[in-house]
Amino acid sequence: MEMKSSGNNAIKELFDDLFTSRDGGRLDTRQLILASRIRLVFVFPLMCVFIYTYLVYFPIRKWPVHIESWLFNLIAITIVAYLIANCTVNYLTKWSRLVERINYLTLLLELAIIQMLWLWGGFLAFPVVLLMITVVIIYRIGMDYYTALLTAVLGVIMYIVTVLMEVNGLLPQHPGIAGSYNKTEAALISISVVLISVFLAFIVTNLVMNQKFKLNRQLEEQSTRDGLTGIPNRRYFNEHLDIEWRRAMRSSKPLSLIMVDIDNFKAYNDTYGHLNGDECLRKVAVCLHKGARRPADVVARFGGEEFVVLLPETTLDGAASLAENLRRRVEMLDIPHKQSSLHGKITISLGVASLIPSPALSPDDLLEHADKALYRAKHLGRNRVSVDFALLYPQHN
Ligand code: GH3
Ligand code: MG
Ligand code: MG
Repeated sequence: MEMKSSGNNAIKELFDDLFTSRDGGRLDTRQLILASRIRLVFVFPLMCVFIYTYLVYFPIRKWPVHIESWLFNLIAITIVAYLIANCTVNYLTKWSRLVERINYLTLLLELAIIQMLWLWGGFLAFPVVLLMITVVIIYRIGMDYYTALLTAVLGVIMYIVTVLMEVNGLLPQHPGIAGSYNKTEAALISISVVLISVFLAFIVTNLVMNQKFKLNRQLEEQSTRDGLTGIPNRRYFNEHLDIEWRRAMRSSKPLSLIMVDIDNFKAYNDTYGHLNGDECLRKVAVCLHKGARRPADVVARFGGEEFVVLLPETTLDGAASLAENLRRRVEMLDIPHKQSSLHGKITISLGVASLIPSPALSPDDLLEHADKALYRAKHLGRNRVSVDFALLYPQHN
């Protein structure tokens, strides 16, 4: 349906992909559990290696000794808490609220660890911490958008605060800075690098998340559409029959069904070939699809050259008059069919049934009775509508 796709639209779509999210920020417990496993086997070991490298190879601040050991213990405790939180999630798979809470807890712990490393090493050690932020943000791909955004924003704010305190002498001097660096320049460079990296990490994350979302939607749509005609398939119809059945039961409103079958279609295939047969099927499908106009109506391909029209909140009378309307529309398509005894063109037969759902009945009853009516329409000479009253007046049965 979206035929026109100008260059402008492509740019707008790319912009949307990079800077907004289509997933609406919904959290999925299974994804959270998966994320915590990724943290355990990937992020946690990486974090330990980083911290070890950091403590061993980077010049640290001139803290008084007691602050130094205090900070060291705090980092160790936070790392252990992080490990425990992530292990716990794997045993709580059933409690989705709790998993969600622990997800936020691990997030806070990650931010705390990063912040303590900054305090420890000073802003000139930013490349190492940067790598950690990037890992933290990137592995959120597939998780919810707002948590990732929050992580990035909080991380950057904490970093900038640390740098400002350092430049203004509120934190003890860093040996590296005290020696050979211009403090303000070094601060500006490291803030810019952190901002740019977080920004890049973020748009990459958005792009991947949005592509994944679009692909999922496409797959979902493909699984509910009929490949040949493009209208909903039988699976879609079955799902909706179920939904509408329960809805009509609650509201005691009628539910109607039309069964449609193309007349003498085997002969059409034999005369014009299967490819033309397919083309004809497509035309009839689109014609029926356009013919049922209420938003809740479902027109679907039931199989072969058979279609169904599900009509919620529609009486038998209403369904019968729509059926007659559909019959006329198909006739007016004027598709030549010289082998047909019926006016030399493609026609359809229709069976209509209606009921008010009750526990004594099932959706199969509705299908069965519409099918019976269709059989009668065929028997009476095709190109006509036949109505089944049995479900509405069961006492006469
Ligand atoms: P009736 O009026 O009694 O319905 O006769 P009919 O020939 O339409 O009924 P029948 O069930 O004998 O034949 C249905 C034909 O529909 C058989 C098959 O070749 C054709 N058909 C089913 N699915 C497709 C399809 O996807 N493409 C094409 N081209 N033909 C199909
Ligand atoms: Mg048939
Ligand atoms: Mg047929």
